[in-house]
Amino acid sequence: MEMRRTTRMWLRTHAILLSVGLVAAGVVTMRAQATLSDQERAMVAFIDANNDAAIALLERAVNINSGTQNLEGVRQVGALFRAEFDALGFKTEWVDGRAWERAGHLVATHPGPGPKVLLIGHLDTVFERDSPFQKFERAGANQARGPGIIDMKGGDVIIVHALKALKHAGLLDTMSITVVMTGDEESAGRPLATARAALVAAAKGARVAIGFEDGDGDPAHAVVARRGSTSWTLEVTGVTGHSSQIFGPDLGAGAIYEAARILNTFRDRLAGERHLTFNPGVIVGGTAAELNSMDSRGSASGKSNVVAARVIVQGDLRALTVAQFDKAKATMRAIVAESLPRTSARIAFDDGYPPLAPSVGNERLLVMYDRASRDLGLGVVTAVSPDRAGAADVSFIAGEVPMIIDAVGLKGKDDHSPGETAELSTLATQTKRAAVLIARLGVLSRGT
Ligand SMILES: [Zn+2]
Repeated sequence: MEMRRTTRMWLRTHAILLSVGLVAAGVVTMRAQATLSDQERAMVAFIDANNDAAIALLERAVNINSGTQNLEGVRQVGALFRAEFDALGFKTEWVDGRAWERAGHLVATHPGPGPKVLLIGHLDTVFERDSPFQKFERAGANQARGPGIIDMKGGDVIIVHALKALKHAGLLDTMSITVVMTGDEESAGRPLATARAALVAAAKGARVAIGFEDGDGDPAHAVVARRGSTSWTLEVTGVTGHSSQIFGPDLGAGAIYEAARILNTFRDRLAGERHLTFNPGVIVGGTAAELNSMDSRGSASGKSNVVAARVIVQGDLRALTVAQFDKAKATMRAIVAESLPRTSARIAFDDGYPPLAPSVGNERLLVMYDRASRDLGLGVVTAVSPDRAGAADVSFIAGEVPMIIDAVGLKGKDDHSPGETAELSTLATQTKRAAVLIARLGVLSRGT
């Protein structure tokens, strides 16, 4: 029953989003029939003329190691981009990350009378100083490999060059643009609220936010919804004693049977709900059991003729909306409370990235991005399934900004692996799409 109702709600929500999207598309189509304006054409020409400079900036950024824990490297990449924003007339600031044990963030602000637009990048990569993968290298005419080349130094370069194009076309002056490049996207510092305070503050009052992650690598896709993730720890205790007395009045079921009941009931009652997943990743149990949550390592001891006294399980939970999280957590807590005889259990949730729930505003922004792409002759852009989009920084501002889109950065394949490769032709095309979208956001919203 519950699941069927959820599915119906989903269909209804999607139908509303779709109809709003079509209406918005119709409105934009009328205006866009003149295809590109003179200023948009000037931006396209500028981006083509400066493509080599954009690739050179990308190469410099990639060649500075900025694994999240290499704080000095992250700061150096920050300084590289900071100089670009300074040259564009932005007010720039380095937000020190000592309070969350990371390098910090770059924040660049360009005040103007237009609607506030927030552009989001990150400076760090998953490749630390001891990684063998350190340098930018060409791989054929149109490809290059490098640590963080698409995740997401390429996206950072797209932000810089789209803004340069806007300035060249005389459009930047009246715009209100804030850029935040975080220094710890790949391994966010804790507490998360502190580590993302600068991003959330920058989002205040923004009408639009655009994230330049690489997404699924396909230029025909963008992200308008991401699932959030939470981790959980389940601790079960039972009464220990001789195994011959299990299920009897003194010993009851023991901790291992109780943990098995809980996990299997999670699966029975929650598996299959759309966009919801949960996974027990590690379990230890026996007469004694310890689990270190920092490195997910544990130990257990017990005997086959002794009823288990203790079990610890750690897992994750992913959902698309806060409501879906709340409902799943309530169900899990209720299951945990239905203890077998002589056992008890408790579950604790440790919230990680919040969800970027689907919204009418996000869908509208995608329609505008798709329109910009088609006017540029660069094809249709559709939304990637939220089940295929991992957590990212845009999720932290989901409640702050009415229109959000992500994954419009440099495209390629195999991010987070030593084969991380950029499709270099997408550097110019993604920059054009971004520049035209940002230009239209300024013009459109001033009139509304
Ligand atoms: Zn990334």
